[in-house]
Amino acid sequence: MTHAPVRTHILGFPRIGAGRELKRAVEAYWKGATDRAALLETGRELRRRHWALQRDAGVDWVTVGDFAYYDHLHNATALFSAAPPRFGLPAAVDLEGYFAMARGTAAQPALAMKKWFDTNYHYLVPEVGPHTRFALNRDWLLPEVREARALGHAVKVVLPSPLTWLWLAEPEPGFDRLELLSLLLNAYFVLFGELKALGVACVQLDEPILALDLPDAWLDAVDTVYRELAGAGLPLLLATYFGGVDAHAGRLRALPIAALHLDGVRAPRQLDAFLADWPDDKALSLGVIDGRNLWRTDLARVLGTLHAARAVLGGRLWVSASCSLLHVPHDLAAENRLDPRIRNWMAFARQKLEELAVLKRALNEGEGAVWRELQAAAQAIEDRRRAPSTLRPEVRARVAALTDADTRRRSPFAERIALQRQRLQLPPLPTTTIGSFPQTAEIRAARAAHRAGTLNEAEYRAAMQAEIRHVVDRQERLGLDVLVHGEPERNDMVEYFGEQLAGYAFTEHGWVQSYGSRCVKPPVIYGDVSRPRPMTVEWSTYAQSLTDKPMKGMLSGPLTMLFWSFVRDDLPRRDVALQLALALRDEVLDLEAAGIGIIQIDEPTIREGLPLQRADWPDYLDWAVRAFRIAASGVRDDTQIHTHMCYSEFNDILPSIAALDADVITIETSRSRMKLLEGFAEFAYPNDIGPGLYDIHSPRVPDRQEMETLLTKALAVVPAERLWVNPDCGLKTRGWAETEAALKRMVATANAARAPLRAESCPA
Ligand code: GLN
Ligand code: ZN
Repeated sequence: MTHAPVRTHILGFPRIGAGRELKRAVEAYWKGATDRAALLETGRELRRRHWALQRDAGVDWVTVGDFAYYDHLHNATALFSAAPPRFGLPAAVDLEGYFAMARGTAAQPALAMKKWFDTNYHYLVPEVGPHTRFALNRDWLLPEVREARALGHAVKVVLPSPLTWLWLAEPEPGFDRLELLSLLLNAYFVLFGELKALGVACVQLDEPILALDLPDAWLDAVDTVYRELAGAGLPLLLATYFGGVDAHAGRLRALPIAALHLDGVRAPRQLDAFLADWPDDKALSLGVIDGRNLWRTDLARVLGTLHAARAVLGGRLWVSASCSLLHVPHDLAAENRLDPRIRNWMAFARQKLEELAVLKRALNEGEGAVWRELQAAAQAIEDRRRAPSTLRPEVRARVAALTDADTRRRSPFAERIALQRQRLQLPPLPTTTIGSFPQTAEIRAARAAHRAGTLNEAEYRAAMQAEIRHVVDRQERLGLDVLVHGEPERNDMVEYFGEQLAGYAFTEHGWVQSYGSRCVKPPVIYGDVSRPRPMTVEWSTYAQSLTDKPMKGMLSGPLTMLFWSFVRDDLPRRDVALQLALALRDEVLDLEAAGIGIIQIDEPTIREGLPLQRADWPDYLDWAVRAFRIAASGVRDDTQIHTHMCYSEFNDILPSIAALDADVITIETSRSRMKLLEGFAEFAYPNDIGPGLYDIHSPRVPDRQEMETLLTKALAVVPAERLWVNPDCGLKTRGWAETEAALKRMVATANAARAPLRAESCPA
């Protein structure tokens, strides 16, 4: 052997279990159906299995600390006794207290939840202030370390770095979180002493915030953190991911750490900045397997990179996945219904561990030791490249032929809206809803029966049409102005459309954790996307045939289709977005041709796609806006395009929201008490707006007074002729009773506000 052996490890493994065992166990415990011992046993069993998988893949250490009953960041909050005082918990938080903070109590709302960087995983936001204190709670983490040691594993412990934990915490107004750093470091220091005594080999400190734009004070704090913690005498692995950190190469090189982990998938080029003069006493861990996506690794290409790195680093090369495998599903072997050809292009968490094992043997024993595996990988990569479904010339040609004219409506908003008003004849402050109506048990049962084949096509259609009639009738009786068909035929915003588009595949068990016990199963965009036939026209025209009022057609936008799917990694995302945009443009035009005068293109995710670093925002926003406009711009001037977004944080991207040039935008505003609208007013948003008058996320029916207050606020910042009246979001999760009661009040509120407006516009 001429080379010192390379090492392998993973940053984290999906905790939910191959059959979502953790979800079931946690939910049963919450319901009181099982006791704490049963829940703890499930946790122990899952950890045992996941460590065994890692050991079988030949990793040098199993990773301990990635398991959580709800969220790993929240685990650190419990471990360091940082429960906010408002929960009134004892300093040493137990499992009950942990769940109380995660889910809220009768007296206290839950901790806020935020998206974990640019993933669809959500963490619980710690709350800190000048009175926050930390103390090690030995009931957390340490028992898991003992468990792994007792099973005979070499252990690497993973923790959020104190800096990342503080950065993600919400401070009391005016409080500087960095003031808590030295207190928190003390608690980590105590913990490290105990980890060392338990025989832990090294500690991985996750520092994903290094991929963000950090203020200087926080960057300088990096030096403090690692200098202090190195003093505990445990080798430290500083783990960065989700972006490049080459801007900080000099600083990172000088830290007293044992190893640095780099994301080689998101930022492959950053490696050069580190390889050149990486200090002799430190290892570099290269994340070459994609921890964010479910495609097989091009092992031959990756081995090229790794051989070059090994030539410089020798045994100081560690190999890993780009980030924790938390973001990919568990095991491809469970997928029996996927097209075998497409399945062969994929790798879930278990398969990624196998890839890691192959890489390790190839590097340490020579490629001959794994030539079969390497050949199989090469064949899969080649097969994917050559598959007709992944490169369809007619789709590529359509995208290539797009011009700026395709991104523009025929006339400016002022001219369009006049024609639309003439055609639609709506009253001032028109009322509408966001699209879905309550999805009752009967609707879900009908869809399930149709899927299972026990309800035939005609019976299914009849059931959905009956539901549409019911929804239209209720809306007419409520006196709404722009009606919807209610979306009974849709299970979900993305899957429904994905199932009708070419280029999409669906897994059976491809679940990933979204938050707590909630998992999502995103569809997979594997090939070039097109729309073989109309997707919604039949439902919308049926609904329109039942009423003289305008019926809104309802579509999910190209960005939402993109961000809520696993997306192919062999084509830039902007190109996938343009393919989706063209497919939706076809649908929009078919709806228009079928006589639908208003079409809503939901785009709740435009913010989700924002890159982590601001410098990359303009480029993203440019293609995102372009994709939406291509979907929307084919229509006549008198066809009205609506869009909908479900959150209230977009004051910093308002110019791009305006650039979508939708005729009407409906947005969530009731929870923020219309604060968002101030931003819209300041920016002078030019088109029509429907700020949500009531929160649909709760069954509570707000009283007239509340709605009136909100409408008055809205009227103060948006001219009446551009204001719409609607709820915050779709109603599918609500029951009929509260839905009708709330909409009745909403319509009454609009009616009352109209009277003086009509009087003003009438010549005396
Ligand atoms: N039209 C969708 C609905 O009403 C919109 C949902 C969403 O924006 N998340 O359900
Ligand atoms: Zn919404």
